[in-house]
Amino acid sequence: MNRPILASIDTQAFAHNLNRVRELAPESKIWAVIKARSYGHSFDAALKGLGSTDGFALLDIQDAVWLREHGWQGRILLLEGLFHENELALAQELNCDLVVHCDAQVGWLERYADKVHKPINVFLKMNTGMNRLGFTPDNYRTVFHQLHAAGYHMHHMTHFANADQVNQEPTVGSQLELFDQTIQGLEGSTSLANSAAILWHRNALGDWVRPGIMLYGASPTGLYADIEHAHLKPVMQLRSEVIDIQNLRKGDRIGYGGRFCAPEDMRIGIIACGYADGYPRHAKDGTPVWVGNSAESSDGVICPLVGRVSMDMLTIDLRNAPHSNIGSLVELWGSKVPVDEVARMSGTIGYELLCAVAPRVPVAIK
Ligand SMILES: *Cc1c(COP(=O)(O)O)cnc(C)c1O
Repeated sequence: MNRPILASIDTQAFAHNLNRVRELAPESKIWAVIKARSYGHSFDAALKGLGSTDGFALLDIQDAVWLREHGWQGRILLLEGLFHENELALAQELNCDLVVHCDAQVGWLERYADKVHKPINVFLKMNTGMNRLGFTPDNYRTVFHQLHAAGYHMHHMTHFANADQVNQEPTVGSQLELFDQTIQGLEGSTSLANSAAILWHRNALGDWVRPGIMLYGASPTGLYADIEHAHLKPVMQLRSEVIDIQNLRKGDRIGYGGRFCAPEDMRIGIIACGYADGYPRHAKDGTPVWVGNSAESSDGVICPLVGRVSMDMLTIDLRNAPHSNIGSLVELWGSKVPVDEVARMSGTIGYELLCAVAPRVPVAIK
């Protein structure tokens, strides 16, 4: 038997969440964002669960190669375009759509223009206030016409800085206004909305939406309460087992630094999951862990984390689960313990935990 830790990926939940995006953005096509190994869920699982998307958006051209080799014939968008000029031929062969965000990339495309045998779709990125990638509205139209004249099929893209917050500058409204003004009279489709915009700014969807985190059933804000009623399902269950039990006496301390001190005689469960698996080392005492008889059953209880998370193990207070034993199943996050709740107890957001699931954790796709 292997070490019992597992990331179990529910492809039906993927399909459900994708449908939810369709309901929220019925007029838009969908770029399913699968950067960072599909937010830690594996490309295999994404291809299986999200196969009815219109396109996949990702970062690394090698991942586009993988998608084509595994039979994906739909659109692929390279979210940051090319990193080097020498990737252009491959991008064309793979039939990728390209984001173009800087002058260097424009130069590469212009030099390549006479080698283009079928038109390449370019999503030209406008910096409307995020100030990360893209052309300022002042330069945008010039670049647009330049690439259009070189024979590229031009589209428009921007990215919101605060679609998950109210009244924080730059607001969605201000970015949207700048975007709309700047592209006035230009042809081409538009792409603006990330998950937060799809959920909360339905006036800002555009022709192609770009959902990421909501496809994985986690919250754009990092707070589970914000998506509790959005009908999304968590796709990953990170699970493991109790591999040992300690009977502490009142006053005993547990783990590195002795952070937790037993208030009474009590049982402690040792779980095969640590920070080298991607569980956050900063998780505080009280972070919820679910303990049950089987991974699917709901007859389990929450047993709080106690003591510092170590590399390969963590420890939980078993007082709520008197019948638990070595071999009892444990959900670290999933449908019983929202990943955002673990994240909140560790000072981060669900995105970071999902992406950080370590390669050593086996993935099971169901
Ligand atoms: C990651 C990313 C997204 C998806 O964002 P979510 O908040 O996960 O929905 C959309 N657009 C771009 C450009 C991105 O980099």
